[in-house]
Amino acid sequence: MTDKILLLSGDGIGPEIVGATESVIHALGHKYGYSYDLEHSLLGGCAIDADGDSLPLKTLELAKEADAILLGAVGGPRWDKVERAIRPERGLLRLRAELDLYCNLRPAVLFPALVNSSSLKSTIVSGLDLMIIRELTSGIYFGQPRGVEIREDGERYGYNTLTYTETEIERIVRSAFEIASKRSGRLCSVDKANVLEVTELWRDIVTEVSKDYPAISLEHMYVDNAAMQLVRDPKQFDVLVTSNMFGDILSDLAAMLTGSIGMLPSASLDDAAKGLFEPVHGSAPDIAGQNLANPIATILSLSMMLKYSLKEPDLAKKIEQAISTVLDAGLRTADISLADESTVGTDEMTTAIIDALK
Ligand code: NAD
Repeated sequence: MTDKILLLSGDGIGPEIVGATESVIHALGHKYGYSYDLEHSLLGGCAIDADGDSLPLKTLELAKEADAILLGAVGGPRWDKVERAIRPERGLLRLRAELDLYCNLRPAVLFPALVNSSSLKSTIVSGLDLMIIRELTSGIYFGQPRGVEIREDGERYGYNTLTYTETEIERIVRSAFEIASKRSGRLCSVDKANVLEVTELWRDIVTEVSKDYPAISLEHMYVDNAAMQLVRDPKQFDVLVTSNMFGDILSDLAAMLTGSIGMLPSASLDDAAKGLFEPVHGSAPDIAGQNLANPIATILSLSMMLKYSLKEPDLAKKIEQAISTVLDAGLRTADISLADESTVGTDEMTTAIIDALK
C-alpha cells in the first residue's frame, strides 16, 4: 500500500527541517522499499503571502485526502500585524479543528547521550521517558465569547471562555487510558478542580472512565503541583493527561528536561488515528535560513507518524535508532551542544541520520 503524506513546510526554519525530513522519507524508500506518495502545500505566513489566508482551501482539501500530514512550523514577526482572524497560528488551529485532531501526544524522552544538556541534574532526568496527552480542539483556546473591548467608562478589557463538554473530555481521557495501558499502566490527570468548575467536571469524568480500566493506577493532580513535580522528580510520571492550555504549558516545561525544544516531536490524532505530526517548537525566525536548526524534532515527528498513523512501527524504530547512533557518536547541533563541543548544521545532522539508518 502507498501512504499519502502531505508536507506543509510553513515558515521560518520550516522549509529546512521539513526538507531534511523529506530526505529521510526518500531514504526509507531506497533502503527499505517504503512506498509513499508526497504532496506539498502552504500553511501559515507563506500561505497568507500567496493566497491571502493562512489556511487555503486547497491545503485543507489535500489534508483531508492525505493519510498523514507533516508540518514544520508557522508564524514569525512578519505576520504579527496581520488581521487576527487570518494570522498564521489561527490557520494551524483551524486545520486541527477541521480535521478534529483532538488528541495531542507530546513525548518527552531524554536520549542518554544528551543527559548533560538538560537543565536539571543527570540523576533527576536520566532515563526520562514520559508522555503528555493534551486535549487540542477545545478549552480556552477555542471557547466563545472571546475578545478585547472597551467599556462605557473607556476602560479596555479582555476575555476568553473555558468550556468543555462531557463528550470532549471523555474521548481524550479514553485515549489516555488506552495509551497508559500500552505503557507502564500509570496515568496522572492534571486539573485545577479546586478553583475551576470545568475541571471539576474533568475530574469527575476521569474517575467515571477509570472504572473501565481497573488495571490502570490513576492519580489526580492540580496543575500548579504538576508543574512543580515535573521539575522536582519528573520520573514519578509516565502518562499525563490534561486540557488544552495546561498541556501547552506543561509540555514546554517538559521539553526543557530533555535538553532542547529542538528534540521534541508531537502527534495530533483524530478518532481513526489519522494525524498531523509536527515538532513542538515554533518557526525560530532568529535562526531561519542559516543551516542552524536542529532537524531531530521533525524527524522524530515522522517516526511518530509511521508508528501511530501509518502502522509502520519497524520503520519508526529504525529512525529512533539512527538518531541515537548519531547522538552517541557526538554529533550536536548548536541547541544541544555544551560550551566546549563542536557543532554541525541542519544538513550535516540530516546526512548523518540517513547514513545511520540500518
Ligand atoms: P520558537 O520555538 O520558534 O523558538 C524559541 C527558541 O528556540 C528560539 O531561540 C529558537 O531559535 C529556538 N529553537 C526552536 N526550534 C529550534 C530548532 N529546531 N533548532 C534549534 N533551535 C530552535 O518559539 P518563539 O520564538 O516563541 O516563536 C517564534 C514563532 O513561532 C512565533 O511566530 C510563534 O507564534 C510561532 N510558533 C509556532 C508554533 C507552531 O507552528 N506549532 C509553535 C510555537 C510558536
